[in-house]
Amino acid sequence: MQNPNTLWIKQPLATLSAAYAGGLVITGNRITELLPSGQSPSMSVDAVYDASQHVLLPGLINAHHHFYQTLTRAHPVALNKELFSWLTSLYPVWARLEPEMVEVSTQIALAELLLSGCSTASDHHYLFPQGLEGAIDIQVAQAQRLGVRVHLTRGSMSLGQEQGGLPPQSTVQSEDVIMADSERLILRHHDRTDGAMVRVALAPCSPFSVSTELMKMSARLAEQHDVQLHTHLAETHDETAFCQKMFGMRPVDYLESVGWLSNRVWLAHGIHFNEQEIGRLGQAGVGIAHCPSSNMLLASGQCPTLDLEAAGCPVGIGVDGSASNDGSNMIAEVRQALLLQRLRYGARKITHQKVLDWATRGSAACLGRDDIGDIAVGKQADLALFRLDDIQFAGAGDPLAALILCGAQRADRMMVAGRWRVIDGAVCALDIEALKARQRELAAQLIV
Ligand SMILES: [Zn+2]
Repeated sequence: MQNPNTLWIKQPLATLSAAYAGGLVITGNRITELLPSGQSPSMSVDAVYDASQHVLLPGLINAHHHFYQTLTRAHPVALNKELFSWLTSLYPVWARLEPEMVEVSTQIALAELLLSGCSTASDHHYLFPQGLEGAIDIQVAQAQRLGVRVHLTRGSMSLGQEQGGLPPQSTVQSEDVIMADSERLILRHHDRTDGAMVRVALAPCSPFSVSTELMKMSARLAEQHDVQLHTHLAETHDETAFCQKMFGMRPVDYLESVGWLSNRVWLAHGIHFNEQEIGRLGQAGVGIAHCPSSNMLLASGQCPTLDLEAAGCPVGIGVDGSASNDGSNMIAEVRQALLLQRLRYGARKITHQKVLDWATRGSAACLGRDDIGDIAVGKQADLALFRLDDIQFAGAGDPLAALILCGAQRADRMMVAGRWRVIDGAVCALDIEALKARQRELAAQLIV
């Protein structure tokens, strides 16, 4: 008897591995057969999709973002600044966020990610001014609407200026409020099952905006509910100086002192480590989300990716927030990783396959998952298909390399959990022009 809901993605133009050069078969939300070149499925299928014009990748996985920041791209107060002055300029603007702003900016970010090849997105939301208590619930609803797999982190700030921190007092919450809401969100939205579409993690924002007690409480709660932990760390020299002054130790020592040196943790940026710290992070299996555009734009530095990986850290790629990128284009970020990391490690070590591996298997490992990030039997059917007919590819030789070297911007088709979510370069069931118009109106309210 014929299997229901089977689809053969037939003979792609190029793939990451020869193991599926002839395509693959999907049954429901999973990959059920890989076909080497010239082979047909072992059983009859319900439908066939001709991928002969497409480069086929596992869906890309974005390991760090702040969706709400799509409202403050290129904001006038933040131009040409480095991290601390950039943040102190933007905190008062972000303190004015309203529920509809979170709803619309989340849709914008998710649509932009989908259109650039991303099937799983992590977000770090840490602003909960009065009236915005349901920010993460809003994000869950929007992710479900667009069909993107998400890891939403309950961010938090508890160290205001009055306690020696960087953010204004109006943007911080008490530890008790943060912990109660974190637990509520885990119980309500965290899906532990294989193939989960929504997972929740805990994410105190950074050493300079969070109390030591909150770091410790978050680690305990994460342990208790078996969820992951995320934060920004070792992004700038200013942060190292802050940690030394405030806590009398460097960022990694601080991380260890609050119980965070574990494989439950993945960090955004991870730039300013010494050799001994890299060894300790690797031994603990701490993941690192490399965010090349943000690191270049804020002049923060270069993540020592290969050293971290050699020490044992999973390395993934994140676009970071759209106020420090200022885009959410995942395939473009993969190219940025290649360019920036070549400056540090050279062209032979940093290949297009290497950076694609970071953006797929590496990011999946950062998020603690083995059911996504790869094209293999039993994995989730999360696929990104790119055509090479835009002008920047005219004359390109190797199709897979062309995707990165020529600067692909947009996927033609995206599948998440076996369902098409982008067809012919458009997000399914979304009026993108109306969405962009509303985002522009809401962003304008944050300029004045
Ligand atoms: Zn960030």
